Amino acid sequence: MQEIPFDELDDLYQEVILDHYRNPRNKGELESPDLQSRGFNPFCGDEVILNLKLDTQGIIREAAFTGQGCSISQAASSILTELVKGNNLEEAGALSDLFRGLMRGEIPFDEELERMGDLEALQGVRQFPIRIKCALLAWATLDDAVVEYRTRTSQA
Ligand code: ZN
Repeated sequence: MQEIPFDELDDLYQEVILDHYRNPRNKGELESPDLQSRGFNPFCGDEVILNLKLDTQGIIREAAFTGQGCSISQAASSILTELVKGNNLEEAGALSDLFRGLMRGEIPFDEELERMGDLEALQGVRQFPIRIKCALLAWATLDDAVVEYRTRTSQA
């Protein structure tokens, strides 16, 4: 799969994406994570494994990922691990819904920029519909992890 034509993205956004790709934040695994899920995007072979740890109040205290794939998918994963810390699972889910809406063009980016952190840099990806899946992979993986966690803990 071809990399994104970066010359069509704004320079600043390009820099932010490449910085997260080359220097990923929170890359690695957590010991006995409370939530864990693996996501795979067959369109370009992106893989993300997400690990989260909650405190006793249900707040995400640690977030880490491993994976491989295109710069968009890995940068988005890195940004996710920074953004979700300090949120509970409802808030993290709301952030996921928001980002999905933004990437699908259902919500204008301008209105929500301050909550987005470096996700803002991914807005140019909307011009490349097939790459939206790359940007959303980590968030879809987060949603899966939350569903799995809730199913598991409600049965316990
Ligand atoms: Zn990709």
